[in-house]
Amino acid sequence: MTAPSPARSAGTASPVSIASAARTAGTDGAVNTPVLVAGGGPAGLAAAAELSLHGIDCMVIEPRTQVSHRRPRAKTTSIRTMEHLRRWGIADRLRAAAPLEVAWSQRVTFCESLSGRRITDFDGAFGLTTRRNDMFAEPGQQVPQPVVEEVLRAHLGACPGAAMRLGHMVTALADRDDSVLVTVRDEGGAPYYVRARYVLGCDGASGVVRDQIGARYVGRSDPRPNFNVVFRAPALDTHLGRAVQYWVVGGPVTGLMGRLNLAGIWWAGLPGVEAGYGTAHASELITGLIGAPAEHEVLATDPWTARMLVADRFSRGRVFLAGESAHVNPPWGGHGFNTSVGDAVNIAWKIAAVEQGWAPPELLDSYEDERRDVVERTVASAESNMRNLAGDLPADAAVIQRAKYPEFHSLGLVLGYSYAGSPVIQPPAGPDPAAAAADTTRYTPAAEPGARLPHAWMPDGSSLYDHLGTGLTLLGPVRRGAAPAGRTAALNEPVAALAGRARERGIPLTLCAPPPGYPWAGEFLLVRPDQHIAWRASDPDDIDLDVVTGRAPAATTATTGTRRRHG
Ligand SMILES: Cc1cc2nc3c(=O)[nH]c(=O)nc-3n(C[C@H](O)[C@H](O)[C@H](O)COP(=O)(O)OP(=O)(O)OC[C@H]3O[C@@H](n4cnc5c(N)ncnc54)[C@H](O)[C@@H]3O)c2cc1C
Repeated sequence: MTAPSPARSAGTASPVSIASAARTAGTDGAVNTPVLVAGGGPAGLAAAAELSLHGIDCMVIEPRTQVSHRRPRAKTTSIRTMEHLRRWGIADRLRAAAPLEVAWSQRVTFCESLSGRRITDFDGAFGLTTRRNDMFAEPGQQVPQPVVEEVLRAHLGACPGAAMRLGHMVTALADRDDSVLVTVRDEGGAPYYVRARYVLGCDGASGVVRDQIGARYVGRSDPRPNFNVVFRAPALDTHLGRAVQYWVVGGPVTGLMGRLNLAGIWWAGLPGVEAGYGTAHASELITGLIGAPAEHEVLATDPWTARMLVADRFSRGRVFLAGESAHVNPPWGGHGFNTSVGDAVNIAWKIAAVEQGWAPPELLDSYEDERRDVVERTVASAESNMRNLAGDLPADAAVIQRAKYPEFHSLGLVLGYSYAGSPVIQPPAGPDPAAAAADTTRYTPAAEPGARLPHAWMPDGSSLYDHLGTGLTLLGPVRRGAAPAGRTAALNEPVAALAGRARERGIPLTLCAPPPGYPWAGEFLLVRPDQHIAWRASDPDDIDLDVVTGRAPAATTATTGTRRRHG
């Protein structure tokens, strides 16, 4: 393989923006970028958005020039993903682009068919609510995955440091001492090289990065086939009223369906239907779900297999897997893309901290420590949801409510996950807080190290999260009493000392007072860029910034109030 000339590699004619840092050609003809993101699906786009939030340039290599509206896949964007979109400043943009507003429906309906009997409903499913809730900054959103990808693409298009090379694909990686040399093919098939300090393998289940770092999936596939259909039926409606999903159970044709938009485009999912049969009988199957003849046109079909796979390693050297390149779970419950976004945020802020010089590369080792447990819980929960598919359920409301509640109400999983036990989180003083999150349905806000910072609304109506910095934030009684009018009260002495220690280490530290009534208002919570609590202390002097940034290992014995002092 020969390296193309710099002029050719920088000048490949694709509909892309190329950031200035990424355009600089190296001496061997390779294009340089701090971070190469292989794959522009949800994980890759989220990683680029997070890097951009921190001002880190990156290059996204993505073969698809257009998103695939006929293959909508994810519809559930979780509360947690919406909170990340809010951090990137685009939550409202996604809501504006979503064809179904949250107010339109927050319901999943089980029925004998769209024209048949209602069996039962789940309200407030998937974190959908129109009421402000203290526990989160954003409700969930039903929106087809291609719309999410389009919003993220447009956002990145406006981020000067994010270069998107659409129509290009990664073919190989080679380790160098201080970088990774990535072989990329442009849309004409010509190879060129990119030298990156870090590579994020966000290229999904069929990408190349996993193999290139010698990782392999461990797990299994569900033997049952699945068949999805997108169809147009402008006149189709149902006496059952609005719902984001209709599950049809107990009859000859079972499955689920819902609107992709309010202009007559629908999706249907048919578990157990094999691709050949589905293709030949798609219309019949749709009519079966509707329960009566209804004019419709099949637009696309999409056979898929549910898989429970987790890679045996998430990284090697400077290369990290995020999203489906690292793990695949059945879609039941709507967690795959959301978990992928969680991975992307976790590794991207850490790379940003290392690139900005306020954390050493050892911080990156915590990525797999923190995400593997979340991923495994997600796979287990999705597999458990898969035990009761439409064809397995009787037309019995009580049975359905018992069996399906965790699929539609999973705040314990979505918000209750914790990074406790991570080497860069204060060691837990009490019992494992992750155990408290074992109930995937229930979320109880907890200010334990590792947990997502309990949310609150500020007196001015903003979210507490809007006041956190992009580096670390110290939340607590940071100032000495109230200030005279027009003045700012002085910092508490130990807070000033912590701020000084942060300054010495180049750590960006934001100081923030919690809103009145915040249950942990008397304590100090050190919060990371991803809104997780790194440290909880009654005295800021006890906070070990070197542990949190990966500079020093945590002391093995955990304490909250009497830790060693740090000079
Ligand atoms: C029927 C169905 C319904 C689903 N519903 C939900 C849901 O409601 N909620 C949810 O959270 N998840 C859902 N999912 C899962 C979700 O679709 C995936 O988890 C998500 O797409 C994973 O994102 P990703 O970016 O990791 O991978 P992908 O979306 O697979 O993206 C990988 C990207 O890498 C690119 N790529 C591939 N090879 C290369 C290469 N060599 N070089 C560069 N780029 C490459 C691909 O073109 C692609 O764009 C559903 C899945 C299915 C099948």
